[in-house]
Amino acid sequence: QEIKDYLDQYIIGQDDAKRYLAVAVYNHYKRLQQSADDDGVEIEKSNIIMVGSTGTGKTLLARTIAKLLKVPFTIVDATVFTEAGYVGEDVESILSRLLQVADYDLEAAQRGIVFIDEIDKIARKADNPDQDYIHVDTRNILFICGGAFDGIERKIAQRLNTHVVGYNSVQNLRNVDKEDLMKYILPQDLKSFGLIPEIIGRLPVLTHLNPLNREALRRILVEPKNSIVKQYEKLFAMDGIKLEFDTAALDYVVDKAVEYKLGARGLRSIVEAMMIDAMFEVPSSKKKSFKVTLDYAKKHIDKAHLDN
Ligand code: ADP
Repeated sequence: QEIKDYLDQYIIGQDDAKRYLAVAVYNHYKRLQQSADDDGVEIEKSNIIMVGSTGTGKTLLARTIAKLLKVPFTIVDATVFTEAGYVGEDVESILSRLLQVADYDLEAAQRGIVFIDEIDKIARKADNPDQDYIHVDTRNILFICGGAFDGIERKIAQRLNTHVVGYNSVQNLRNVDKEDLMKYILPQDLKSFGLIPEIIGRLPVLTHLNPLNREALRRILVEPKNSIVKQYEKLFAMDGIKLEFDTAALDYVVDKAVEYKLGARGLRSIVEAMMIDAMFEVPSSKKKSFKVTLDYAKKHIDKAHLDN
């Protein structure tokens, strides 16, 4: 619960993913504490796979967990790995990245977290040339994978349809929330999607992230501990200027993010475009405060032509 409380400070929504991650990470580090005693019970590792559209917070979750735990953390992109080579040479490059961020402290690296992005897009590619190896023990490295798995809802729907035949079918189908199929995701859906079973088997913790709606985007703008709005307020405060945003101006930012289909990633570019003139002019003026009104927001965002 403490881990989730921490995540709540930085990430809006995604309660399911937060709970799964909190449990998985807690168990992982309990596993590191287990004594090599005699009861014969050895807690095994549970790597994690998160499924959710791009820009819904997968990387942010993994990064925030690593920050909380103060362990080396690296992000790698699965598109550069060979499909069969998940045990091959490419994977060594992940570990050298982890070593790098740990300043070549092998002990620390071996307890790190690796976030493998775009796990749904593993590419076929030729092998890497040989290189000198440092031996890294991966037993205690937690691997968190993320992927958008575009279209996986269709696989989930197919499975739900084919499995709910028989006596209970009518009732079962009625109970299925068709607007939110992702919550029914199971490992076999990853398989139908095309991920090879050898990979799925190594990622026993499966969770999903929800698409961010307007309300979530609006909260992301202001609520997280280092929200975009708080960051701009701080930038201005460093020049002794009190920055304020009208509610309507922030609503407009969200409208534009929705309209341009930019999601949470777009919020920052929109606010940046909106603030560029103010950031250029206000610090050189004698102003002690600056207010972003709806009119100001409209004028500056529309001028930026972010929709191109
Ligand atoms: P993904 O890995 O799912 O593609 P990211 O975690 O990289 O998405 O999110 C992109 C950016 O959008 C983050 O840097 C963060 O600022 C913002 N963001 C996305 N989802 C959330 C969320 N649920 N809460 C707060 N910020 C979010």
